[in-house]
Amino acid sequence: MKIDLSGKVAVVTGGSRGIGHAIAQALAVAGARVAILGRDGPKAQAAAHALANGAARGYGCDVGDAAQVETTIAAVEGDFGRIDVVVNNAGTTRDNLLFRIGEDDWDTVIDTNLKGAFLVTKHAARGMIKRRWGRIVNISSVVGIYGNKGQSNYTASKAGLIGFTKSVSKELASRNVLVNAVAPGFIDTELTRAITGDAREALIGAIPLGRLGQGSDVAAAVLFLVSDFASYITGQVLVVDGGMVL
Ligand code: NDP
Repeated sequence: MKIDLSGKVAVVTGGSRGIGHAIAQALAVAGARVAILGRDGPKAQAAAHALANGAARGYGCDVGDAAQVETTIAAVEGDFGRIDVVVNNAGTTRDNLLFRIGEDDWDTVIDTNLKGAFLVTKHAARGMIKRRWGRIVNISSVVGIYGNKGQSNYTASKAGLIGFTKSVSKELASRNVLVNAVAPGFIDTELTRAITGDAREALIGAIPLGRLGQGSDVAAAVLFLVSDFASYITGQVLVVDGGMVL
């Protein structure tokens, strides 16, 4: 069996760079037409044009804004005719210790990482339910399972995504809409490039496979979960961390 997504339409939030772009690329190579969502519309469009099969479009959309998400999902359905796959990947950090986290930094992280997934899923899942086929993958994080000092806002959002995944998987299973999460470890992107020097070496030293993950490592897990190889898997969290938190 080969992974063939031709005829499918996939939405990847935060697909303009990093892990999301690697996911969008993997889906496009497998034959899907891909819609990339990011706050910066021109960047999302440029990222879409760079994809393999030339059948992608970019959309400017802040996933934490309900009105923007509703309009954008309707635009994607108008442009492509359907949505079969959603990858809720858009994410951000505002790291600090508990007593230094302001309300704005709490709200920005929860709105982007958790509320964004809720809004996109809610609007995109309707068509999947009607057609009795859908795949939703939420990009959580290992720190959403194990916690991390200085990231209580981020870890709360990522743990929340796991609860959201499990609940929605139960609601949508009877309509053949499968909902899973991927929990990456330490992946080499702009988000983690701020960790430098000894701290970076210590983190790499804690990874049994001895290297940082790449976007393509996460993309491969997503590709599996949206494929027919995973048609009996729902409500699960697939950890992709090089063995870091066994
Ligand atoms: P990057 O910072 O490299 O990319 C984040 C992407 O999300 C960009 O495309 C950005 O585009 C988009 N984005 C951010 N905020 C919003 C928003 N409000 N609305 C729409 N799009 C938004 O991050 P990574 O690629 O490293 O991370 C991707 C996902 O993987 C995140 O959810 C992250 O939490 C998760 N993750 C990452 C790990 C890592 O080690 N890198 C480890 C575990 C999980 P724009 O700025 O144009 O909006």
